[in-house]
Amino acid sequence: MSNFTYHCHTTNSDGKNTPLEMMQRAKELGFKSIGITDHFSYHPNNDDHSPWDMSTVDKAIDYWLKCYDKVQQAAAQVDIKVLFGFEVDFYKSARWRSDFEKILARCPYDYLLTSTHYLRNADESKRISIFHTGPNGTYEDELLDSFWDTTAAAVQSGYFDFIGHMDLFEHRGIAKKAYTDEKARVFELMQRVHMAAELNTGAKRHGALFYPSETFLKEMLPYDISLMVNDDAHSTEQLGTCFDEAEDLLARIGYTNRIDLAQK
Ligand SMILES: [Zn+2]
Ligand SMILES: [Zn+2]
Repeated sequence: MSNFTYHCHTTNSDGKNTPLEMMQRAKELGFKSIGITDHFSYHPNNDDHSPWDMSTVDKAIDYWLKCYDKVQQAAAQVDIKVLFGFEVDFYKSARWRSDFEKILARCPYDYLLTSTHYLRNADESKRISIFHTGPNGTYEDELLDSFWDTTAAAVQSGYFDFIGHMDLFEHRGIAKKAYTDEKARVFELMQRVHMAAELNTGAKRHGALFYPSETFLKEMLPYDISLMVNDDAHSTEQLGTCFDEAEDLLARIGYTNRIDLAQK
């Protein structure tokens, strides 16, 4: 049974509880460690007005350092190992990467995870949240093709320790094809650079499937990709939810390659 989570959210972005409340609850649950990963969605064209909106490098750095300070202040008050990172929306463009490197040069972190939350067009002028898509919508091929393409580039970028909810795209029922070759390419790249993935229990607790699904995990299995179970908790009640079912699934399909970032 996992006694950690390395993917959860706090009031620094869209979570309901403060970093301290999340850490205290993790401690009560017997977790040995917790990684706080609020959203990092910097893009020069960023037009959303979420609380973690960041449309310039300076705003992004300011947000990052504020999150870091809050997490460190809370960590000093609890007896549990705390890691600090972000759930980063990666973009392929040279402009984004150059800006991201400026941000990384100024900002501390223990690890980074990347999740693809948006379909986007080639020049990154348009993006659609995958959470707002569904099987009845029609989406241009350019947008649909961007999912695995962006994920592959994120793996190759070398910025990230693991990928969050890898098959989100498949859960929405919007793809017009199986993307078999594209997925195999991502798995091969992950194997080559020893990049990990998560089994995310976030959707499972709402009655849907795990991310990735059992089918997807079986496709991943031959590539020997390290896996961790994370809850993607957005509140204290969501910490550790469905971890037993996740362990049962992994045991049943023989997925034994596991990783604990705190032991790295
Ligand atoms: Zn996410
Ligand atoms: Zn998340």
